[in-house]
Amino acid sequence: METFKKLPDTSFVVLEFQSTFGGTAYMQEVIDDNGIAKHVRYNQHIDTASWDSKESKWTLEAHDLKTGEKKIFSGNFLWMCQGYYRHTKAYTPEWPGMSDYKGLLIHPQHWPTDLDYAGKEVIVIGSGATAATTWIHEIVRRKIAHDQPAFTKICIESPEQVKKDLIAGVAAHLPEGFHVEKNFTPSYRPWQQRVAFIPDGDLFKSFADGRSGKELKGDIIASATGFNLVMFGDIVFTVDGEVVDWHKTITYRSVFTRYDE
Ligand SMILES: Cc1cc2nc3c(=O)[nH]c(=O)nc-3n(C[C@H](O)[C@H](O)[C@H](O)COP(=O)(O)OP(=O)(O)OC[C@H]3O[C@@H](n4cnc5c(N)ncnc54)[C@H](O)[C@@H]3O)c2cc1C
Repeated sequence: METFKKLPDTSFVVLEFQSTFGGTAYMQEVIDDNGIAKHVRYNQHIDTASWDSKESKWTLEAHDLKTGEKKIFSGNFLWMCQGYYRHTKAYTPEWPGMSDYKGLLIHPQHWPTDLDYAGKEVIVIGSGATAATTWIHEIVRRKIAHDQPAFTKICIESPEQVKKDLIAGVAAHLPEGFHVEKNFTPSYRPWQQRVAFIPDGDLFKSFADGRSGKELKGDIIASATGFNLVMFGDIVFTVDGEVVDWHKTITYRSVFTRYDE
């Protein structure tokens, strides 16, 4: 926004195919404080992006997901903020017998906001970022965000000590004789891959009460199995009429350049 304040004659638009903003709980505040809402157009799916070298201009073809109307946008500068995963289709593996399951199978990426899971048996598949934080409370989320810089610093300064402490913390939540070395000892240092925070160690309670590794019955299965990676929001890019083949490009300092074999 600061950039645009310095360029009063410049107009900009933010195009988003979802019907509202996503992201974190603080996003509404950021939008309000900076007066961004009037620049955002929701339900706009970008299908193609074409660069014209002679005109130094991008032309985007979009369609309105509500009305189906085709729209054209053009500009000199295209800032891609499409993220790295397919928002419309989460990654769910095929499990044998899946079609026989009569309960609810939900991927957190498409979590129904009105889901009532009170008193239900819920099984979470996965052990990574989504699974660990599926039911994390907002207050806990804020505390983690607040403490994170200090924790990251100590991970960089004393990785081996932090690794030892984390594993000891996990072991303390697990039953006697649980194979911590085999199941909970990563080959990498803390923050070389992300550290998942498990408030109150609730994930470990299911190991401690012996439910792990057996047949589990559940009314709801939350498949926290990850996402599908996608390049540039599935948008077809062309440069002077030629479709860009990303396999034939390299990126250097955030700039894509074509190379010819
Ligand atoms: C399971 C999971 C857990 C995570 N947990 C955390 C966490 O706890 N803390 C943290 O800091 N980060 C977390 N992240 C990472 C964080 O979500 C991303 O780094 C962040 O969302 C990236 O922001 P972005 O704006 O680049 O992309 P996104 O948030 O992905 O936004 C991209 C937007 O572009 C839109 N879009 C895409 N293609 C098109 C198109 N063709 N036309 C129109 N619109 C389009 C999408 O609808 C989307 O709204 C997590 C990620 C995942 C997957």
